[in-house]
Amino acid sequence: MAKHQFQTEIGQLLKLMTHSLYSNKEIFIRELVSNSSDALDKFNYLSLTDEKFKEEGWSGKISIKLDKEDNSLTIGDNGIGMNEADLMDHLGTIAKSGTKAFMDNLTGDAKKDSHLIGQFGVGFYSVFMVADHVDVISKKAGEEQAYMFSTDGTGEYEVKPVTKEEHGTVIYIKLKEDEKEFLDKWRTQEIVKKYSNHIAYPIMLNYSEEETTGEGDEKETKTVQKSEQINAATALWTLPKSELKKEDYVEFYKTISHGDDEPLAYLHNRVEGSQEFKTLFYIPKIAPMDMYRTDYTPGVKLYVKRVFITDDDKELLPPYLRFVKGIIDSEDLPLNISRELLQENRILANIKQNSVKKILGAIKKLGAEEAETFTSQYNKVVKEGIYTDQTNKETLLDIVKYKSSTQEGLVSFEAYTSRGDSEKKEIYYLIGDDEKVLRNSPLLEAYKKANIEVLIMDDEEIDSIVTPMIGVYKEWSLKDITSIEAPDSKSEEEKEEISKEFKSLTDKIKEVLGEEVKEVKTSTRLTSSPSCVLKDASDPMAGMAAMFAQMGQEMPETPLILEINPEHEMIKKLDALEDTALFDDISWILLDSAKLSEGLEPKDKGAFASRVASLATKAL
Ligand code: ADP
Repeated sequence: MAKHQFQTEIGQLLKLMTHSLYSNKEIFIRELVSNSSDALDKFNYLSLTDEKFKEEGWSGKISIKLDKEDNSLTIGDNGIGMNEADLMDHLGTIAKSGTKAFMDNLTGDAKKDSHLIGQFGVGFYSVFMVADHVDVISKKAGEEQAYMFSTDGTGEYEVKPVTKEEHGTVIYIKLKEDEKEFLDKWRTQEIVKKYSNHIAYPIMLNYSEEETTGEGDEKETKTVQKSEQINAATALWTLPKSELKKEDYVEFYKTISHGDDEPLAYLHNRVEGSQEFKTLFYIPKIAPMDMYRTDYTPGVKLYVKRVFITDDDKELLPPYLRFVKGIIDSEDLPLNISRELLQENRILANIKQNSVKKILGAIKKLGAEEAETFTSQYNKVVKEGIYTDQTNKETLLDIVKYKSSTQEGLVSFEAYTSRGDSEKKEIYYLIGDDEKVLRNSPLLEAYKKANIEVLIMDDEEIDSIVTPMIGVYKEWSLKDITSIEAPDSKSEEEKEEISKEFKSLTDKIKEVLGEEVKEVKTSTRLTSSPSCVLKDASDPMAGMAAMFAQMGQEMPETPLILEINPEHEMIKKLDALEDTALFDDISWILLDSAKLSEGLEPKDKGAFASRVASLATKAL
C-alpha cells in the first residue's frame, strides 16, 4: 500500500479544520453532498452527450447511511467517480491557487472562517472537523479499477486498489467519539433540509430503527432497516415563482454559496418566446474574497434543459458582474456545445444581455439600506462596468456613488443633479488618492465660498481613468475642477485688471521657478490659501490617463500652473518686497506648499525644509 504526504497547505488546512473551525461542524454534510451533486451533474452530462457513457435506466442519487453501532456516517453517489490520479490530485492537493490566499485571509474567528471554506473550494477537508478516519472509495465512470483513499487527517494518506461495482464515490466517515449527534436521523435530516433541499438529485437517508410489534408476552423488538428520501430534489430555479417563498431562495443560496449568510438580493426570471431560458441570480452581502484576483472563481453555472454544463466559464456574465452567483438554464442551447463555440453563440449572447439588464435593474431598485451595503462592497466594480459596458453605461451611472464636498456619505449623480444648478448643468469633481488632501485642497475654496457641491473622487487609480470618459450624465457635463475656471463673481474685465496689476510679480516668480512651472498667474479660485497648483488642462497629455493605464505605463508628468491669491496678505506684501534672496525663498515656498496641499511632493524636500526653517528664524 502506497503512503503519501499531503501537500503542505493541506497539512495546515487539516490542522485548522480539526482545531479551530469547530463552531459550524454540520457544514461537512453540505460540502460532501454538494460534491456528490457535482459528480452526478458531470456523469449526467456525459451519459446524454457521449455514446460511451449511455446507461439504460441510470438515475443519479445520493445516499447517506447512519450506523450507530459502528459510529460511522457514509455518503455515496453514483456520479462520475475518481480514479487513482484523480484521488491524489483532487484530494491530496489543492489545485487552486487561492489556497494561500485562503490561509492568509483566516481571521482566527471560527464562525467567520468557516464561511471561507466553501469560497476556496476546500470543502472536502471540512470532514475532518468530525472524522477520526476517512475512506474514499471511488470508481471512475468508464474505467475498470476502483481505488480507496484513506486518511486520518494527520498529514498522510494511502491509496490502494479495491473492488466496487458501480461507478461513483462512497465516503466512509468514522466519527470522532463526541460527534454522535450526526448519527441522529432527525439531526441529519434537518441539516440536509437546511442546506441541500433543492439539490436536483434525491438524497436517501438509510438508517436502522428499533420496531416493537405485538402485545404483552408476544411483544417483540426488532431492528429494521429504513430508507427515505429527505430532500425535495427539484432544481429550485425550475419551479414557478409563485410556488417559492423567500426562505426557499435563501436556503438555496446557502447551498450554492457554501455559506450561512442571506443574500443581499435575488432575482428569478423565466423568459419565454423565440428563446426560452430561466435565470436565478444572487447578489452576496459581502463581496467574494477573490473578486480582485485574476483567477477568481466565476459564480454562475450554466445548465441546458436542467443538465449542468459548466461552472467555470467567466464569460456567462460580463467580468464586472463577477460577484453575482446563480444559474442560467437554457432550453435552446445544444447540450454538447464546446467551450469555444459557447463564446460565439448568439443564444448565449442574448441570455447574457438579458441577464445583465435584469441584474442592473434589480440593483437600481434596492432599498436605501441594501443600496448602501451594495455600494460599500461593489462601487469599484460598478466603475469598471462604466468603463467596459457601453450598452449599460446609463444604468451604471445611476448606480455608482461618490463622496461629496457638501454631503455626508456617498451621493449619486442623480442626487447631485437634483441639488445642482439646473441652468448650467455641470457636475464638478476633483480626483486624487487621499480623501483628506482632496477635502483640504485650495482648489475647493472658491466652490465652498459659492456653496457649490464638488464630488470628491478619492479612488484615483480607477477614477482618473473612468471619470473623464463618462463625459455627460443626463445632459449634465462632468467637469474636472482642476481644468476649468473657478466660479466667482468677478467679470472678465475685472480679472484682466487684476492680472495686469500683478503682472510684474507673476513674471518675477516665474523667473525664479523657471521650468518647474509652465505659468504663474493670478487666481480667483482661492480664499484662504496664498497659492495653488493645477495641472495644465491644455497639455496634450492631460486626459490620457486611461490610455497609459491600458498600456500598463505610468502617466508622464503634466506641467503645472501656479496660481497666486492676489487678495492674500502674503502676496500683497511680496509684491512690495525688495530683498531678492527672501523673494526667491518665498516663491519656492508658494510652489512647494501648494504642491503639498494637492498631495504632490516638492522637487527638493531638503531645500523646502531649510527655507521654512530660515523663514521661521526670521519671523522670530
Ligand atoms: P471543490 O468541490 O470546491 O472543488 P473539494 O475539496 O470539496 O473542493 O473537492 C475537490 C475535488 O475532488 C472536486 O473538485 C472533485 O473533482 C473531487 N471530488 C470530491 N468529491 C467527489 C465526488 N463525490 N465524486 C467525484 N469527485 C469528487
